[in-house]
Amino acid sequence: MSHKFIFVVGGVMSGVGKGAATASLGRVLQEKGYKVTAIKIDPYINVDAGTMNPVEHGEVFVTVDGDECDQDVGNYERFLETSILSINYMTTGRVYQSVIQRERNLGYGGRTVQVVPDVPNEVIERIEHATERANADFTLIEIGGTVGEYENILFLEAARLMRMKYPDQVRNILVSYMPVPGTLGEMKTKPTQQAVRTMMAAGLYPDFVIARSTLQIDEPRKAKLAMFSNVHADQVIGAPDVKSIYEIPIVFEQQKFGEKILKSFGMKELPEKKVVKWKKLLTSIANTKGEVKIGVIGKYFSTGDFTLSDAYISVIEAIKHASWANGRTPKLVWLNSEAYEKSPAKLKELSDLDGVVIPGGFGSRGIEGKIKAIRYCRENKIPYLGLCYGMQCAVIEYARNVLKLKDANTTEINPKTKHPVIHLLPGQDEKIKEGNYGGTLRLGSYPCKLAANTTARKAYGAPQVDERHRHRYEFNNEYREALEKAGLVISGVNPEQDLVEIVELKNHPFFVGVQFHPEFQSRPLSPHPLFKAFVKAAVGKKGGKD
Ligand code: GLN
Repeated sequence: MSHKFIFVVGGVMSGVGKGAATASLGRVLQEKGYKVTAIKIDPYINVDAGTMNPVEHGEVFVTVDGDECDQDVGNYERFLETSILSINYMTTGRVYQSVIQRERNLGYGGRTVQVVPDVPNEVIERIEHATERANADFTLIEIGGTVGEYENILFLEAARLMRMKYPDQVRNILVSYMPVPGTLGEMKTKPTQQAVRTMMAAGLYPDFVIARSTLQIDEPRKAKLAMFSNVHADQVIGAPDVKSIYEIPIVFEQQKFGEKILKSFGMKELPEKKVVKWKKLLTSIANTKGEVKIGVIGKYFSTGDFTLSDAYISVIEAIKHASWANGRTPKLVWLNSEAYEKSPAKLKELSDLDGVVIPGGFGSRGIEGKIKAIRYCRENKIPYLGLCYGMQCAVIEYARNVLKLKDANTTEINPKTKHPVIHLLPGQDEKIKEGNYGGTLRLGSYPCKLAANTTARKAYGAPQVDERHRHRYEFNNEYREALEKAGLVISGVNPEQDLVEIVELKNHPFFVGVQFHPEFQSRPLSPHPLFKAFVKAAVGKKGGKD
């Protein structure tokens, strides 16, 4: 194996953008002509992210091969423009599950199986396997959490053992935070110095330190950090706050981060390549003309006194990509569907928007508000894009208000409804009875056949597409004929199982609901066609005026 492995660990605090830093470094190395893959390690006991509350953990990203993983995997896909597979994601639960299974199968030949080295060795094997699968020159491995936590210690141990196994092929990067306290007005390096010490106590030392902060780190502080961290000042890479995370590869490139990494491996520098395509993207972001105002109606926004949009990150990124492609700056408005239940008069605020998106969701909280909002968009010709639950709610709304099936519903909310227009997928009944919830939804990529002369078909410009799914319920085909007669257009169907995947309306600027999650496939350099068409219609709503 001549592959190179780069571990990325966090210091001081979480949420400083380790994922974006990892993805950006990957992009820089990729643009230098190398094949790059990235792995995310989540230290939780959960086997995957599918069973975690999105308010706590953020979005559940779905891979082509149907894994439910951390949102950082989405960043890898967006920056590296490649599909990341399930093997590139692991959690403590998943690693232990394999070790225990192997032990039960006598896979360790009857010897005592131990936390060290057997657990870190399982981690190493997975990293090797993912690297071979992607045939990568560089594998970036992001270890979740921060150094010094109890939870990720076995993964740090894997990084240590991996360096012993491949001494010249492993490097460590610490992504740390440098606060600039308002009362001092000065960037402080001490928390990072301590993070480096904690890292060293785990048997690791950083080859590079990425200094995340509100500001760019200056030379005196680089020197100070270098002295305390056993690195040279030029191995400290500044990562100040930027307006868009897509600027980070350029920030790294300006500091010759890619070159420095190559040099540290003693690798021959390839003829100087610049991040050309990426620079073009930033130019198009900078040169937009006017705004497009998109409302996202959801419920996973608030935690205590704070509003977060992490649960919808791929949706937000997809809207951004499509807006830039339409020459606009997206202005996103977070709307809480529960508000429309309490005061329907509030629905009027939707008229100020150029378009509305209702993303995926589960359970009853806020669903009636979503249905009211969809009716408002349908009747007032506001461009609407419904994703998964947003599609199911559109079907319920149409059945209730156009087909006049007053108690039409999904059996997820009312299992006894007289009109279950959305019902369980085949085989899901048993799973629910067994309490078998983890990883049992309809997951991953499935084909979808598009009907001629429809908005969807025009947007995609292809007769068949593949899209990623994550749902337990589906459109009930018993209502298909009646709904079609009442004007609902079925524009996308799964060719093998005849499941309805896309519904839309005629005589509306844009009204499309999809059972899948197109947002997972949108990338800044290749925005998703449906989002692009939706934003185009949204821009058209105001007749192209700003
Ligand atoms: N709750 C719905 C289902 O399980 C929709 C899921 C989703 O929006 N991802 O089918």
